[in-house]
Amino acid sequence: MNPIFVTQPYLPPLEEFIPYLEKIWESKTLTNRGPMHQRLEKELCDHLGVEHISLFANGTLALVTALQALRITGEVITTPYSFVATAHSLLWNGLAPVFADIDPVTLNLDPKKIEAAITPKTTAIVPVHCYGTPCDIDAIQKIADNYNLKVIYDAAHAFGVKRNGQSILKAGDLSILSFHATKVFNTFEGGAIISPDAKTKQRIDQLKNFGFVDEVTVVAPGINGKMSEVNAAFGLLQLQHIERAMTRRAEIDAMYRARLSQVPGLRLLEQPMPGNTSNHSYFPVLVGPDFSVTRDELYELLKDQSIHGRRYFYPLISEFPMYRHLPSAQPGLMPIAQGISREVLCLPIYPALTDEEVNRIADTVCYASTLQRKAAA
Ligand SMILES: *Cc1c(COP(=O)(O)O)cnc(C)c1O
Repeated sequence: MNPIFVTQPYLPPLEEFIPYLEKIWESKTLTNRGPMHQRLEKELCDHLGVEHISLFANGTLALVTALQALRITGEVITTPYSFVATAHSLLWNGLAPVFADIDPVTLNLDPKKIEAAITPKTTAIVPVHCYGTPCDIDAIQKIADNYNLKVIYDAAHAFGVKRNGQSILKAGDLSILSFHATKVFNTFEGGAIISPDAKTKQRIDQLKNFGFVDEVTVVAPGINGKMSEVNAAFGLLQLQHIERAMTRRAEIDAMYRARLSQVPGLRLLEQPMPGNTSNHSYFPVLVGPDFSVTRDELYELLKDQSIHGRRYFYPLISEFPMYRHLPSAQPGLMPIAQGISREVLCLPIYPALTDEEVNRIADTVCYASTLQRKAAA
């Protein structure tokens, strides 16, 4: 049987990419805000329903640059339940991460825990829309306004997600996206920052290009964060296919829900409220104490069938060596995140996954649920 991985990048037919490459060869512009780059910024604005977007070479550089652009200092409150890049971007800026616990339903930062973590040194909040589920952006904005904090959303999972018909990428001061190969929309490697106004975008565009304003003027110690023309061209091609890819993801999500929502001890994430959209970027299941086997046993059982789920996010960021000494990283301080990271397993979801494969995965999970749990020692 073919192995099934948790995700597979969406690749349009190769022949469709050739004309884009021919254009690049003709123009001889390989990078530095060339025609593909400019077109992708415009088309992404239209597609996402935002006004100002700056493309980056990857999502991590976008995060690092977003923190620079807003001149963040001191302590920044963030979630332990995310991909390591969220917190690494703080360390790369010499900032002190302060972890706060998550909400057990959305798995996003709990606003009450954010407020409790604020000190006189706090200057910003970096929440994550985990698995594309929107954060409580109203509550977070209220806290930010009350305490004069900036909010930078790590929206790496949230491509195309809407709340009340509006893009959630407009929330906070800045949002960042990742277009890594494993994400819903990919440019091989890539990322972006969404800005609220042209002036902020201009500063970000300078920062991602060494701080250049013109040939002879450098206004900031910028970095090289630019997206190349080949990556931008691939993004333009992906955009042609994105609706179909999203529809297929939604179908797979619905199939899993039909098969797994009644399995004892297994919890699925809630579906979005009416008026909100999900991008079905992940399909996490929470393997609770009432399930027949442990999360790790289920992970191994699936692996025996060549089905490779992923324990996103385990371990927590706060458990990695460069974070675990922090006062806010003590396990007792984030019982919800601790518990969820030991129960979570992301099942495969990607457009090329067939109905047969989804059923085979669901069959294996259902079979596991009938096993006798080993008697407790
Ligand atoms: C993928 C991801 C990133 C990093 O993006 P890259 O494009 O891989 O650098 C950051 N945060 C989260 C939550 C992610 O999932």
